[in-house]
Amino acid sequence: MIGGGLAGASCAIKLREEGAEGSVLLVGREPDPPYHRPPLSKAYLRGEDSRDDTLVRPEQWWADNDVEVLTRTSAMKLDPAERTVRLSTKQEVRFGKALLATGANVRRLRVAGGDLDGIHYLRAHGNADSIRSDVEDAERVVMIGGSYIGTEVAASLTALGKSCTILMQEAVTLENSFGAEVGGFFQGVLENHGVEVVGSDELDRFEASDGRVKAVVTKGRRELPCDCAVVGVGVMPDVTLARGCGLELGEGGGIACDSRLETSVPGLFVAGDMAEYESVLHGGNRLRIEHWDVAQKQGETAALNMLGRDVPHDAIPYFFSDLADWSSMEYVGAGSGEPVIRGSLEEGDFTAFYVEGERVTAALTVGRSDDLEHARRFIREGTGIAPDELADEGKDLAALSAG
Ligand SMILES: Cc1cc2nc3c(=O)[nH]c(=O)nc-3n(C[C@H](O)[C@H](O)[C@H](O)COP(=O)(O)OP(=O)(O)OC[C@H]3O[C@@H](n4cnc5c(N)ncnc54)[C@H](O)[C@@H]3O)c2cc1C
Repeated sequence: MIGGGLAGASCAIKLREEGAEGSVLLVGREPDPPYHRPPLSKAYLRGEDSRDDTLVRPEQWWADNDVEVLTRTSAMKLDPAERTVRLSTKQEVRFGKALLATGANVRRLRVAGGDLDGIHYLRAHGNADSIRSDVEDAERVVMIGGSYIGTEVAASLTALGKSCTILMQEAVTLENSFGAEVGGFFQGVLENHGVEVVGSDELDRFEASDGRVKAVVTKGRRELPCDCAVVGVGVMPDVTLARGCGLELGEGGGIACDSRLETSVPGLFVAGDMAEYESVLHGGNRLRIEHWDVAQKQGETAALNMLGRDVPHDAIPYFFSDLADWSSMEYVGAGSGEPVIRGSLEEGDFTAFYVEGERVTAALTVGRSDDLEHARRFIREGTGIAPDELADEGKDLAALSAG
């Protein structure tokens, strides 16, 4: 496994669970063995979860299950023809099958003042630790970006007693993913807990005092004073190794692979944030999805295919997000479409079904996890359901069949 994140880890775990007998090596450049990232903006950031709580498996599990884990080690060069990987330790490793699971890196902003002290990005344990210790003496924190990272971090830091502001290009938080109506619900939750939201504006520069950030200045000429800033403006798939050895890249910037997650090189698989796979659920269109559950399930699919099982990756993508303990949401599917609301946004008890034509492509729920099973069925079956039937609470979802 090249990459010690969740996708690499779950591939190694699945290989052992399925009785694979060969040697399994997992190479990751971070100091920690594989861990879950979602807590980094949630319970770990708030100091409620420990580092050990975030681990994919207890440290001893890897040795007990004969998986060699090399931390602080980078794969420097991949040679698909020779089937070798050169490591930063100068070791050259020969492989029969390999998984590329190098994940993604945060998108960095190039603006005046962008390298001042007190400006943070969030991807790894170390970033969360720095934010936590830096906000200890801070009163005001500005988040740049109104998507998952910005909203979750704003909620967590508000719960820690900080005064938080979100600055974003969108009019409404999470609008790009879920539309203005549903995004507006989450913005309402944030505002009701004291988070200030500044939308339809953009970062121009950071201002300093003694080398440390003291304000965020927007293109709309607002000045947002802060002691600390956290930037969450998306990630870029890490395709450095793949590009270096000429693997085909997809239109979404990831590494192209088939529905079994195999690249153009036989025996070389990809999984996780940089995998751009042919989705059998979406008519063979290529998808690249940056979700925790997708990384885990793709790692497992890759393992099965390494063992010759010949299975497509046909899991319906699943995503979750929490705003402190104020609100949680779950989402299944992928795609756009108009939201059809079942339940009440005002009461925070609803499911939004995203519908294109009459096809359900995705669903987001707050407080109605049971609806997700129905949504999964609608997405898989793929034929029409009238939007007014989805919205009608008098209609039993179990009785609504797309088939
Ligand atoms: C703060 C935060 C909160 C999140 N919250 C949620 C959430 O609530 N819900 C959700 O669904 N998703 C969430 N996600 C997204 C989810 O965590 C990711 O989709 C998932 O971690 C992707 O796993 P991965 O294994 O593909 O990549 P990564 O986790 O990025 O792992 C790839 C690893 O490979 C290493 N690597 C890269 N190149 C090399 C190399 N050449 N040699 C060796 N190692 C290398 C990297 O350093 C990294 O450790 C969150 C992400 C973050 C950062």
